Amino acid sequence: MIRYSVLGSGSSGNSYIIGYNRGAILIDAGYSLRELRRRVALTDLNFEDIHGVCITHLHPDHARGAGVFARQTGKSIYVNANLLEKNGAALAKLGIPAHLLRTFECHQSFDLGDFSITAYPTRHDSPHSVGFSVKIGQRIFGILTDTGSIDTEMQAYAREADILFLEANYDWPMLENGPYPYWLKQRISGPHGHLSNDDAINFLNSCSVQTPQKVYFCHLSKNNNHPDFLEQSCNSSLIWNGIRTICHHGAQYCGSLDTGDN
Ligand SMILES: [Zn+2]
Ligand SMILES: [Zn+2]
Repeated sequence: MIRYSVLGSGSSGNSYIIGYNRGAILIDAGYSLRELRRRVALTDLNFEDIHGVCITHLHPDHARGAGVFARQTGKSIYVNANLLEKNGAALAKLGIPAHLLRTFECHQSFDLGDFSITAYPTRHDSPHSVGFSVKIGQRIFGILTDTGSIDTEMQAYAREADILFLEANYDWPMLENGPYPYWLKQRISGPHGHLSNDDAINFLNSCSVQTPQKVYFCHLSKNNNHPDFLEQSCNSSLIWNGIRTICHHGAQYCGSLDTGDN
């Protein structure tokens, strides 16, 4: 059985774990090592079984724990090769020991134990940011957060996902009428910012009625969104009819799935 958890999502930290057969991977390390350990302990997975951490981008809510994680556990951190090549100074600030830093190329899948991982570019104001598609047996998990706009490649990856962790960052009226300065509202809602509730729903409607099979709406803003608003929007405008979970800011969610092999 594959077991997984949204360890937490939102501006105060983002991390996901997917585990199978005494192996596991983390996507993002937006929490301290202590907090990651605490949250993993609430799942059916073992922290010691983690092969390494795949990082979507360098914003602190996704990467702040990566350096300490690597130094304390001796496990590797996987980042986009372009980050190391073109944005090495920013990457260096995480303090990941060189021998524990591994790189991947977008669109070239790599294996960590039983997990086959493919990264693809997202559109975000953090250079060389990526989303991930993770295959275990016949199952595919998608991680698509922190992108200000979508493209056909993201749709293609979402369509093949059994489970998709999808950003629904803000409710447009809440953002517009909220306390943030104009420039920050522009950044969040811009083409390299975040997906709104409507963006996420339109994205799902554009994928397929049946796929992805299950969606976790993630990365809800504490200040500019409310799960009730997202629920209302879902009820009024979702054509896609899979199973959904709305992840409250900072909350943890666990699930399991068979490998689909028989
Ligand atoms: Zn983020
Ligand atoms: Zn970000």
